[in-house]
Amino acid sequence: MEVLEIKKYPDAILRKKCKAVKAVTAQEKRLFEDMLFTMHTFKGVGLSAPQVGLTKQLIVADVGGGAVKLANPKIISSSGSDRMVEGCLSVPERSVEIKRFYEVTVRGLNEKGERVEIEAKGLLARVIQHEIDHLRGKLIVDYLSPWKRLKKLLLRR
Ligand code: ZN
Repeated sequence: MEVLEIKKYPDAILRKKCKAVKAVTAQEKRLFEDMLFTMHTFKGVGLSAPQVGLTKQLIVADVGGGAVKLANPKIISSSGSDRMVEGCLSVPERSVEIKRFYEVTVRGLNEKGERVEIEAKGLLARVIQHEIDHLRGKLIVDYLSPWKRLKKLLLRR
């Protein structure tokens, strides 16, 4: 396993829309393992392929209850809502309070290429939504209101 380089905001790759993978091949399996290893190395709880420079729809997450590896993840149902301050390995030294669904059901392919549905709630549901945002080029800073963005910019000076 290998520690991959994490792309940092404002790297253009973080704004790309990622492509669905046709199948989970040995290459994707290897990538899942390297992404998990990289995520653990930097003490993250989730990571997406664009964060390591690849525009593929792959995400990994681990909030302590076991690793989740998903290709082509799609939220098929959701309920409740919850607010929490989030960080991102690609946006260091920033944290943003974000309202997200409390519970989600996600469909995708696992590391064996099998179609799976995962029911997640709380932190895991949040991390999965955060990583799916990455696959669409969306980042935590996009959740700041224009006023808050301006204030953060001014406070940095
Ligand atoms: Zn992130």
